[in-house]
Amino acid sequence: MKNIRTIAFVLFITLIFSFLAGCQNSTEGEASAEENEQQPIIIQGPMPIEAENFAAKLDDVEEETSGNFVFYKGKVDNYPVIVMKTGKGMENTAAATAIAIEKFDPAAIINQGTSGGHDPDLHVFDIVLGERTVNIGSLKTGHREDEEGIAPKEWIPMDLMASEGSAGEDPDAENIRYFEGDIELLEAAKAVKDTHEEGKVVEGTIGSADVWNNEVDRIQWFHENFGTSVEEMEGAAGAQIAKAYDVPYLGIRTLSNNKTNGGEYNPDTAEANQEYVYEVVKEYISK
Ligand code: SAH
Repeated sequence: MKNIRTIAFVLFITLIFSFLAGCQNSTEGEASAEENEQQPIIIQGPMPIEAENFAAKLDDVEEETSGNFVFYKGKVDNYPVIVMKTGKGMENTAAATAIAIEKFDPAAIINQGTSGGHDPDLHVFDIVLGERTVNIGSLKTGHREDEEGIAPKEWIPMDLMASEGSAGEDPDAENIRYFEGDIELLEAAKAVKDTHEEGKVVEGTIGSADVWNNEVDRIQWFHENFGTSVEEMEGAAGAQIAKAYDVPYLGIRTLSNNKTNGGEYNPDTAEANQEYVYEVVKEYISK
């Protein structure tokens, strides 16, 4: 009787151990399947000088195109990273962002490149991390009759996302719409600030529109009314689409020019910015 009990007990324990071992194998199996399905990080750059340096840093690159858009699909530290050349401007960026999200299901998107300073304390080669991004072309003019002229300083911000109704008639749409930069991407970017030696790295507000502003009074008007640190032509378009799909997004922009303090356009800033963004991506992957 005692022997039978002992045998039954041993069998029971053996069963439990083989069950536990089975569980462990299946979790190991899931982990390796997850590794194969890692969601890529996407790095956007509008012009060749704003994308190709980063693309050249990728391992195992494959090129793919869709319309005007070029995707360089590769790896950084063995993690999938896709560099995109989006072309300049809001329309290209919005379309490219939507296509990239549908095609590649990214974990995060960084939109980076050059910009013009709105803040006189920022200089060529400094970098702005887009704590906020805002469309500075989304404006409603004041009411003026024939021969009453134009008055750009009276223009009112217009939030096209406020409602599905007419933004021209809706007083609720008379607000500035800011898109928040993703906290974890911002943390990764802040952690590697020191790697950028050509200038400083600060948090700020990136303004975007299909406009190149060279009127210093107008630049100051945006700086005072929208809080813009810099302007460029892409960030807010990508941010709006990333938000529509709930994909983490951050703008990272170097100053290639700053009309408010005499900073002459320097295209070498584009490469320095990609060097910095490469460090940000490595930091983000490591976390
Ligand atoms: N100097 C070039 C500029 C290219 S167009 C030329 O004249 O052809 C503008 C591109 O540079 C856009 O991708 C935009 O994001 C960026 N940019 C840099 N500085 C800018 C500024 N001051 N205003 C608007 N866009 C700017």
